[in-house]
Amino acid sequence: MFGRSFQVARVAGIGIEIHPSWLLILALVSYTLADGWFPQQYNSWSTEAYWAVGIAAALLLFVTVLIHELAHAFVAIRRGLPVPKITLFIFGGVSQMAKQPRSAGEEFQIAAAGPATSVVIAILTGAAAWLLRGTNEKADGILWYLASVNLLLGLFNIVPGFPLDGGRVLRSIAWKRTGSFRRATRVAGGVGELVGYGLMMLGIFLLLGGFVFDGVWFLFIGWFLLGAARGETQNMQLEAILARVTARDVMHTDLPTVRPGDSIQQVVDDHMIGRGERALMVANDGVVLGMVDVHNVHGVPRDSWPHTPVQAVMTPREQVVTVTAGTKALDVLMLLAGKRVEQVPVLEEGCMIGLITRRELLDRVHLAEELAPDPGDAPEPQSTIDRTA
Ligand SMILES: [Zn+2]
Repeated sequence: MFGRSFQVARVAGIGIEIHPSWLLILALVSYTLADGWFPQQYNSWSTEAYWAVGIAAALLLFVTVLIHELAHAFVAIRRGLPVPKITLFIFGGVSQMAKQPRSAGEEFQIAAAGPATSVVIAILTGAAAWLLRGTNEKADGILWYLASVNLLLGLFNIVPGFPLDGGRVLRSIAWKRTGSFRRATRVAGGVGELVGYGLMMLGIFLLLGGFVFDGVWFLFIGWFLLGAARGETQNMQLEAILARVTARDVMHTDLPTVRPGDSIQQVVDDHMIGRGERALMVANDGVVLGMVDVHNVHGVPRDSWPHTPVQAVMTPREQVVTVTAGTKALDVLMLLAGKRVEQVPVLEEGCMIGLITRRELLDRVHLAEELAPDPGDAPEPQSTIDRTA
């Protein structure tokens, strides 16, 4: 979405981050509480009191969302799976794990810890509200609110749609049954897509019924879940396919090279249009000076091509994004996507020994996808896992 997350705290080595979109949902929840929920139940408070209690209840709600995420994280950490950070964002919280669970049992425990915690929070706050009933209206209101929302949170997360907690529980069960992590992910991903479509349809019905706010909200959350379910399935497939492939396996070694004094026109005619090469090494007597690609050329007006040397537009060697021969192919793919570059040279002991282009790498992935047997068990652990609260 928009902006970057910023860290606000550290709990047991886990960075607690807040995404800018969280401020939006905090404001929205505070507003609905101060303007609707509390005035409907208690009619004698001042406007300031509605707002103070509304904001306090909204903040406490996100504290309980954080506790839900911490429950996932603590179970994962105790199992030896590091959790570098938890992010609060518009749809709740996300625990990012550095590794995939290694067994169905592990995944089941980590996933189930969240909704179980939400239900426990609901019971505790509900019990506290009941014990304190009649003593303080404001505390009463906040506690009942926390109890009901946490109960909803616990129930919503049991919906078996990937990437909700229930989807992970479903995957762990399918994993146990079939013995195949890939097949289980496909099942949970498929159900997750159905849930996403279902929520979007619910949103449309609500919109047609005149409930604009709820309609838009369900459309939005359905769309988010749909994308997340698809992304998770694709990631898992990529990981399984690329687990044992390194940069050396996917690079090509016939490095097309031009001289620094060659004109752009020459390079475009002979190499780019002539042989379909999108990126070329610029080298003098075997010494690599930099790289020139289609983007560099685009920056120069066409009339200047015949008399501009490539040296003038190339990316100098020290600025070229590179990988080493041993880099995992999956990491290369992430790098290409992250840095938005089309190709990356491969270094070994400081020398450029090959080039990987995004297009070739994706072709390899698609080919491997068609031919790959189901590996059966867990893939090499390396991905991050997202959980909506
Ligand atoms: Zn969760």
